[in-house]
Amino acid sequence: MRAVLIGLALLLAAGTAAFAAERAADLTLTGAMTGQDHQTYREVPFRVPAGVTRLTVRFEHTGQDQRSVIDVGLRDPARFRGWSGGDKAEVTISESEATPAYLPGPIPAGPWTLILGVPNLRKGAEARYTARIFFERGTAFGGFYDAPLKTTPGWYRGDLHLHTGHSDASCASRRGAKVPCPLYKTVEAAEARGLDFIAITDHNTTSHDQAMRELAPYFDDLLLIPGREITTFQGHANVFGPEAFIDFQLGSPRAPDMASILSEVEKAGGLISINHPGLPSGETCMGCGWTAKVDFGRIPMIEAENGGALRQSQGGDFLSGLAFWEARLNAGYRITGVGGSDNHNALMDPAEAASVGSPTTVVHAPELSQPAILSALRAGHVFVDLKGTRDRLLEVTAEAGGHSAEMGDALSAPVGAALAVHVHVAHAAGGHLAFAGTGPLPKLADAELTSADETRSYSFAGDGRPHWIRIDVRGPDGNLWLLGNPIYLNPAARTAR
Ligand SMILES: [Zn+2]
Ligand SMILES: [Zn+2]
Repeated sequence: MRAVLIGLALLLAAGTAAFAAERAADLTLTGAMTGQDHQTYREVPFRVPAGVTRLTVRFEHTGQDQRSVIDVGLRDPARFRGWSGGDKAEVTISESEATPAYLPGPIPAGPWTLILGVPNLRKGAEARYTARIFFERGTAFGGFYDAPLKTTPGWYRGDLHLHTGHSDASCASRRGAKVPCPLYKTVEAAEARGLDFIAITDHNTTSHDQAMRELAPYFDDLLLIPGREITTFQGHANVFGPEAFIDFQLGSPRAPDMASILSEVEKAGGLISINHPGLPSGETCMGCGWTAKVDFGRIPMIEAENGGALRQSQGGDFLSGLAFWEARLNAGYRITGVGGSDNHNALMDPAEAASVGSPTTVVHAPELSQPAILSALRAGHVFVDLKGTRDRLLEVTAEAGGHSAEMGDALSAPVGAALAVHVHVAHAAGGHLAFAGTGPLPKLADAELTSADETRSYSFAGDGRPHWIRIDVRGPDGNLWLLGNPIYLNPAARTAR
């Protein structure tokens, strides 16, 4: 049942991204201007029904060949909402963000006005205009783009945990003062790191969505995903996808328990990931460790590696979320393990843990789009590159009974079934493979990686019982380089999918 609901939410989210191209308009306003309208304004009224959370206008007119120009603006029942002149064919307004030139905020029901200005219409000329108006309701959000940034399947690299001046990130101003860091600095750092996608996850707010809306058309090779870090006194969790407000005041009547927060996240079609659960919670880091009671069957992701924790433990495991994640895997939950830098200064230094892209989460997705990346994250088609390289690759597949599974997938392996695990690792010479998981793991012969492109196959017999198996790559000092995600053998029903 839950899987069906999530599938529906993803479908809705995907639909939103390309809605303008596919959906019929809710209202179409048409009319004609003539030379008599030259240098005048026309106000075209329309009604917005109750419950609208986003309003989008697509505008076009004829007569460009005669240099006819019709400018566009909007007024809601109470105030002016913006003016895009003759510059933009599509404008959108939601509660938290709007096309630059427009003011974000609630979409009140009632009489709105499409303001048309006519800077030029020649005597005897005519220009016909069409304004198609789209209303969206509800909290699902498909992202800032109408089309995928890349349409090819591949491994896409990203950082899922980034702060800006919209919460507690700071950087040096032009004159060297410590100031709240503008969001574009983080985006530029991600570009410099060669990332394909990033999520901005400021604490509890979504005020950064407006800056992301403005930057998305320019950074058209770096997918910007809206997020926020729900920051409570009993743990932190990133939510990816929706823009709608989600109340974080855990323990207050607004959000009595974590289950009520999860219900809000699920209703909004959000993807939630528990952050840095291995950090202590106390006066040095208030609410950082995860102490909230929660049904882990509702948790699709855990941040197994956090850049800040890696920096504090100097690359070691003692503050990482790995043990916390593995304990849930051992209990039978299917939860994707991811990484996030938790960067707070917009700096990009590959040698520095917690700089933008350290660690990098690498996702196997059919295309580079918000719905595809979030869906692949949920499915666990993921490994974490702890050093944030540009090219290290870890591909793991398992085969049994004529079926094949990649990381995150399930595979049936009855008693005595021949089970084969295939590993492909690139650009990790000097490291070695390591198995993790439960049940009968094959012996890891030939685990040393000596060349830039290596493949291995291991075979063993299934025992018919539920297990998870994972392959990682570790460096010569034993520290993790690449953290895989499990393949689930004979999984029980206890799953977050
Ligand atoms: Zn946090
Ligand atoms: Zn954080």
